[in-house]
Amino acid sequence: DAPLLEVDDLHVRFRVRGQDVHAVNGLSYTLDEGETVAILGESGSGKSVAAQAVMGILDVPPARIERGSVKLRGTELLGLPERRRREYRGDRVAMVFQDALTALNPVFTVGDQIRELYRVRRGLGRKESKAKAIELMERVRIPSAARRLGDHPHQFSGGMRQRIMIAMALALEPDVLIADEPTTALDVTVQAQIMRLLADLQDELRMGMVLITHDLGVVAGVADRIVVMYAGSVAERAPARALYARPAHPYTRGLLASVPRLDRRGGPLLPIKGAPPDPAALPSGCPFHPRCPRAEAVCAAERPPLVAVAPGHEAACHFAAEVHGAEPE
Ligand code: SF4
Ligand code: MG
Repeated sequence: DAPLLEVDDLHVRFRVRGQDVHAVNGLSYTLDEGETVAILGESGSGKSVAAQAVMGILDVPPARIERGSVKLRGTELLGLPERRRREYRGDRVAMVFQDALTALNPVFTVGDQIRELYRVRRGLGRKESKAKAIELMERVRIPSAARRLGDHPHQFSGGMRQRIMIAMALALEPDVLIADEPTTALDVTVQAQIMRLLADLQDELRMGMVLITHDLGVVAGVADRIVVMYAGSVAERAPARALYARPAHPYTRGLLASVPRLDRRGGPLLPIKGAPPDPAALPSGCPFHPRCPRAEAVCAAERPPLVAVAPGHEAACHFAAEVHGAEPE
């Protein structure tokens, strides 16, 4: 059987001020039913662009999918005509964004917005669409769902709005849910509730989930596999447990060292020095070399290929094997 979602060697470019910017440079991953793949990276790493390409909402200038493949159960999505693409969006692949307030229409009640989906996409009538909307709001655990259908987005808290957006994404029972920084705008306790909700819903519905985040803390306990992106490229790719236990890329080590952890009581947090590079002016060789504590002369000269350090575990570092073998910090 073909995997649920298979992204292979995806390359996305932007044309900015007459210059080609490589936003995504060879991203590959697969996702099966009930699995979560986390795409981890700082802003500008290409992780959101990659998600939009998969969702089919990027085929507009100045963005260009230069090559690669995105297959859903074996069907190539890239290059499908927009009319066919629309059939996939929502029905097969749905997306949750960071900011529910901009994704929801402020003018209409949440009930109307959810019911509109059932009306347009499923041809349901008034009564049926209302019943479905209530069911959906209960599913995402909005208290007094029936009563709140008539409320507008601004009458809900940030966390509740995010639940409504999740409800809308799930309305058509997609096979794949792409969650792009779904908790970033929320405070820490609400973040945990939303992640719990997403994990539970994924279990119930047996969806595949692509979780895009800059926060390794959000990923813990949710992701089966993790893809770490840096400056548009894959820095490391591994089963979650392997990546936490034995990272093979200095960037991943840096990310792990800067996450507060229960098992490192009072230990210092070590943020990675410097800022990610301008995608329009990437450093030579390894794009991480200006910030890398382990860099040597070869790093500025040669771009490291993605190499395997263990089955299913790869890193793009000239010293991946040594980094993988070293004691965790
Ligand atoms: Fe650091 Fe060099 Fe590895 Fe890049 S290739 S991550 S600069 S050690
Ligand atoms: Mg983003």
